[in-house]
Amino acid sequence: MNKDLDCGAFLDSLSEYVDGVIDSALCAEIEDHIADCDDCRVVVDTLKKTIYLYHKTSEKTVIPVDVRERLFHRLDLDDFVQEKSLLS
Ligand SMILES: [Zn+2]
Repeated sequence: MNKDLDCGAFLDSLSEYVDGVIDSALCAEIEDHIADCDDCRVVVDTLKKTIYLYHKTSEKTVIPVDVRERLFHRLDLDDFVQEKSLLS
């Protein structure tokens, strides 16, 4: 087993690693660690699948920005119109 990085430190770095924002030196240490540590490799595989599914799911349900903006403008306008009619 690789002693440069223990499982605790590994797990601390894991969320950054799977997001792809970790620096490349630490990334290499993590790759070394999962090459030698079955437990952590399973954790990484599971986490990657979970994140992949999460992104896949959220892409389907997300409202495009322009549609959302138009919706908000519409709602604001409706509020404005309603307010005016109440005042007059
Ligand atoms: Zn480990």
